[in-house]
Amino acid sequence: MATICLDPGHGGHDPGAIRNGTAEKDITLSIALAARDRLVPAHRVVLTRGSDVAVALAERRRTAESAGADLFVSIHLNASTRPTAQGFEVLVRTDEDQGSAALAWTIADALAARFPDRRNRGMKRAGLAVLRQSRPCCLVECFFLSNETERKLLARPATRRALGEAIAEGCAGFLQAPTPSVRRPVPAGAGRERTGRRTAPSPRPRGSRPA
Ligand SMILES: [Zn+2]
Repeated sequence: MATICLDPGHGGHDPGAIRNGTAEKDITLSIALAARDRLVPAHRVVLTRGSDVAVALAERRRTAESAGADLFVSIHLNASTRPTAQGFEVLVRTDEDQGSAALAWTIADALAARFPDRRNRGMKRAGLAVLRQSRPCCLVECFFLSNETERKLLARPATRRALGEAIAEGCAGFLQAPTPSVRRPVPAGAGRERTGRRTAPSPRPRGSRPA
């Protein structure tokens, strides 16, 4: 049994992205609760928030620390000024952190299995403060709130449940095989800068399906 810290993004006075009256903070909580329900009782789950409250980033890291969490997964939605931007991606602070990179790829694979029609944007690097941790940790951007198709998908409870379950399956899969470095060499080197956020895609390891 491992301890997994799930971090629903935003909350309280911080709604995150808002499109057509839908706030990111509500959907991230719903996804996190679905992930928790999938992980217990096999694992212990700690949430950085279980309701609509604001939680500072340092507080989120502290929750993971004081719980002695083995993993930390932050759950967010993406948004772009380009309405066609779509799909899911998983952010890590640096792809030199093999544990976090393996966790990110395992979650991306689980999402791809659940949502074969959505674009798998893979793993990217982003210098996010919430990911400055001493345990494998990543941030999942589950779909784009700015994309009409994905916004409609996110409005359905079944989609939010499936996203949560995929994240849970990714966590469980990583815990079973935390160092799949033979199957998935983590590539070094810089990628292109993407629009909007300071993220750069990491090339997908050889031997895996293209996105
Ligand atoms: Zn967010």
